[in-house]
Amino acid sequence: MSTFHVGGIEITRVEEMLSPGSPPGYLFADFKPSFYEENPELATPAFLDPKTQRLMSSMHTWVVRNGQDVILIDTGCGNDKPRPPAFRRFDMLDIPFLDRLAAAGVTPDDVTLVVNTHFHVDHVGWNTRLEDGRWVPTFPKARYLFPKAEYDHWIASDAGLKGFPDCACLLEDSVMPIYDAGLVDHIADGDEISAGLTVSAAPGHTAGQVVLTARSNGETGIFSADVLHQIVQVPRPEWHCRFDEDSQLAYRTRKALLERCIAEDALVFPAHFGAPHASRLAPRGTGYRLVI
Ligand SMILES: [Zn+2]
Repeated sequence: MSTFHVGGIEITRVEEMLSPGSPPGYLFADFKPSFYEENPELATPAFLDPKTQRLMSSMHTWVVRNGQDVILIDTGCGNDKPRPPAFRRFDMLDIPFLDRLAAAGVTPDDVTLVVNTHFHVDHVGWNTRLEDGRWVPTFPKARYLFPKAEYDHWIASDAGLKGFPDCACLLEDSVMPIYDAGLVDHIADGDEISAGLTVSAAPGHTAGQVVLTARSNGETGIFSADVLHQIVQVPRPEWHCRFDEDSQLAYRTRKALLERCIAEDALVFPAHFGAPHASRLAPRGTGYRLVI
């Protein structure tokens, strides 16, 4: 378990899965094997599985403690959830995630805020758990903060589902039960959700995705959600991920976020990068590099 600090805010990574995900050429049409000659530091086992040549893919929750709230940023894939072939890696999982959360000193009743950066299968799963055949909120004493623009995109209108019909299952078992339980507050660009934690719109990967910025004692941390989906987008921010809804908008959002990370000397907390999972960034050539 890794713990980081942004001023007086403590951030702990609680792992759900860390395993080989997709081959880079599957996610990024522009990928060429020469990428690893140019970026050998990303060919290490932390980022590229030596056996399968697939990108190492982490699913984790960032637990943020600022003295006021216990906040979970994104909730992984969840247990017992049937998933279609497109999400085969996340089908019917049985992972002791809540035990790991307890090892980080957090019981479900301790959690006061849950943030979903966007409504994708690997960001909403532990919102709910199966109890007597029903999906119930895993964190019953928390307010769940969902982006208003994601609600509009996936639920109020069917624009999201038209493009990605496979996402219906996660809305049904991981998002709607939270609305039904009356635990949702909507968030939008500029909101301060707790002391030192603000929301910024980050559209492109999905229409309503948000990122979070932590500020304390002159230090900055940025929870970058899937703006940075895979580590290869640090040196090659112009590469489009196949899961981005609007690739041009995703690129503009990514470029602006990367520039902000540099300008603010921010510690960056991506959703899926391999160890050390969070780092600062620096410019290099036409792209960027991890400072590790
Ligand atoms: Zn994701």
